[in-house]
Amino acid sequence: MLRITLFVISFFCFPLIAQASSVTLQILGSGGPNDISGRASSGYLIWIDEESKIMIDAGSGTSLRFGEAGASMSDLAFIGISHLHTDHSIDLFSLIKRGYFSKRDTPLTIAGPSGNDHYVGFSTFVDNFLNSYDYLNYYEIDIKTIDASLPGKAQPVWSEGEIKVYSFAVEHADTPTLAYRIVTPKGDIVFMSDNNATAAGMDEFIKDANILVMHFPINEQEEESGQLFWHASPSKIGQVAQKAQPKLLVLSHFMDLSLNDKSNSLNKVEASYKGPIILANDLVKISL
Ligand SMILES: [Zn+2]
Repeated sequence: MLRITLFVISFFCFPLIAQASSVTLQILGSGGPNDISGRASSGYLIWIDEESKIMIDAGSGTSLRFGEAGASMSDLAFIGISHLHTDHSIDLFSLIKRGYFSKRDTPLTIAGPSGNDHYVGFSTFVDNFLNSYDYLNYYEIDIKTIDASLPGKAQPVWSEGEIKVYSFAVEHADTPTLAYRIVTPKGDIVFMSDNNATAAGMDEFIKDANILVMHFPINEQEEESGQLFWHASPSKIGQVAQKAQPKLLVLSHFMDLSLNDKSNSLNKVEASYKGPIILANDLVKISL
């Protein structure tokens, strides 16, 4: 644990000198794969100095929201995919196509998790699609496959000047899954994606984030249905957030199981977590 602590401290507490004048999180998709409430699936955009610079997850519908947000593929430098479920990944290819029309002339870096017995690794996932036909190979794409089997270890993934992205393997049943921490001079945003909140070292990775985005797809009654193998219950989310003490907790990735029992589920979060909470909606912007 000491090794993990030192590693995380060295990455996240080192004073940064240069200043970005503005950093804003925009929700592109706050829903899930069976959405009934008009939400796109998981996707988040980070605006740095008015440029749509970083995207985390690209679930179904997020390419549409990207356009609605007024974002530009010319400015997008990095896309981090948490895992290969379609509600987190499938619009990656729509975005790559969108980039053709932007006439971008710099490489786009995309990252995602390594595979296991059930899932191919990220580079295979992307290559299989891009190499299916000669349609999407327009500009340079730098594909990074991140080891998702390294518990308790924050991994540097991408950086540009003062902006740095780290990943951390979380537990999402049999699915290799990555959380991401975006470090900026204005503060840090952590995206936990789908996970059951049991990963060793997770508390250190998310500690003191300015914005902590946690997924909220199930209600407390799902405890008996096996869903806890995949997702954290509302009460568990509250416990995790209370330990992490973010300046703001954003709950997102709503599904029918959470929306149908929203007030009870929120009460379970608030039983432990006493800080501010925002319920995500598509296209909402939150400035650091
Ligand atoms: Zn999901």
